Amino acid sequence: MAKVLILGGGFGGVVAAERLAERLGDEHQITLVSRSRQFVFYPALVRLAFGNSQPADVSFDLRQTMLNRRVNFIEAEVARIDPLQRTVTIAHGEVEGRLPYDYLVFALGRRLATERIIGFYEHAHHLLNVDKAISFGKAVKKLNAGRAVFGQCFGARLPVPVYESAFALARRLEEKGERERVRITVVSPTTLDLELGDVNAAAAIKKALDAHQIEFLPNLQIQSLTEDTAVTATGETINFNLLMLVPPFRGSSAASYLGITNEEGYINVTSTMRIAGHERIYAIGDCTNYDGPKMGHAAVRQAEVAAANLASEIDGRALGARYQHEMRFVIDELGAGSLYLHKDLSTDEPATVKQGRFWSWAKQVHEEYWKVSHS
Ligand SMILES: Cc1cc2nc3c(=O)[nH]c(=O)nc-3n(C[C@H](O)[C@H](O)[C@H](O)COP(=O)(O)OP(=O)(O)OC[C@H]3O[C@@H](n4cnc5c(N)ncnc54)[C@H](O)[C@@H]3O)c2cc1C
Repeated sequence: MAKVLILGGGFGGVVAAERLAERLGDEHQITLVSRSRQFVFYPALVRLAFGNSQPADVSFDLRQTMLNRRVNFIEAEVARIDPLQRTVTIAHGEVEGRLPYDYLVFALGRRLATERIIGFYEHAHHLLNVDKAISFGKAVKKLNAGRAVFGQCFGARLPVPVYESAFALARRLEEKGERERVRITVVSPTTLDLELGDVNAAAAIKKALDAHQIEFLPNLQIQSLTEDTAVTATGETINFNLLMLVPPFRGSSAASYLGITNEEGYINVTSTMRIAGHERIYAIGDCTNYDGPKMGHAAVRQAEVAAANLASEIDGRALGARYQHEMRFVIDELGAGSLYLHKDLSTDEPATVKQGRFWSWAKQVHEEYWKVSHS
């Protein structure tokens, strides 16, 4: 009998647990540990912020859904892992102390390094969890004139909700006949094609931004904030009445001291999703060291590869599944400007880019499908 421990109840951890439960016999024990028993469907948080869905629509209870698949669930905070002793130290929660494992899947996501931007905590909104999305939504409701600024900090790896928020605000103001009252600006630490990973996608999004009179300011690395001003690394200032910023990302601190990460704390894995130089430990999702945006689609694909290989490792078979890094996302403009992008990041092939109202609909249907098939 093998004890398999999965750390993190996000896209990666949940799919890894489901696939392992399908592949492993009943004699093996699978346990998922996460700090909250709620699974949150993050791509829906922009709609939550703009009042188009409720908290109950974007999350579900993990304990029962895991138990239905014969996976134990423990609500607890992971402090560190010890690959030599094969234990995980739990700081607090339903259990405390050390949990032993035979095989481990590390899926703790990324850390928000808000401390790197002076004044972030006091003056910026973000929407990277349910509570923050709701409080950003309240601030949006109060804004009836001035300037709204949206953007990513240097080291943030999530462009999609930045553009979706700017489009959602523009459409709301257009519907109310108040568009001219608010100047909307998107700032980027780089250029639009680098941010989206493709020149054609950048051109399509620029056209959609222009259609809504949303200005785009490239190459601005915001370094500090006051109540109404963002200051960049080169001293430019950007005034605002409302600011939504995606803070810098870093890898999970639970892996940071083990010598298995790059300088930003992301875990080095091979294409089997096993941690480089370690048997029996896999890492998947936002915590891993891959280029490009941190996306749920990649976390899911990596979870499938890790589960297949972990099951082979338990059975003493060679690891046959390989992950090929790719980027796939939809930016929902709530209409004909909505954009789909797919790019294989292991080749120099250009991305497949499609644009149209269909992709707005498809993104919402995908959310429903996810809920039905995983909850
Ligand atoms: C607003 C927003 C919009 C997005 N839009 C899209 C989109 O349109 N398309 C797309 O593909 N992706 C999108 N993403 C990105 C996507 O949600 C992430 O890439 C995905 O969630 C990564 O999955 P993961 O399992 O690696 O990490 P996560 O989903 O972050 O899961 C990590 C889990 O580990 C838990 N955890 C962390 N640390 C600890 C600890 N120390 N102890 C115990 N538990 C811990 C967390 O609570 C969480 O449950 C969006 C993200 C956000 C925030």
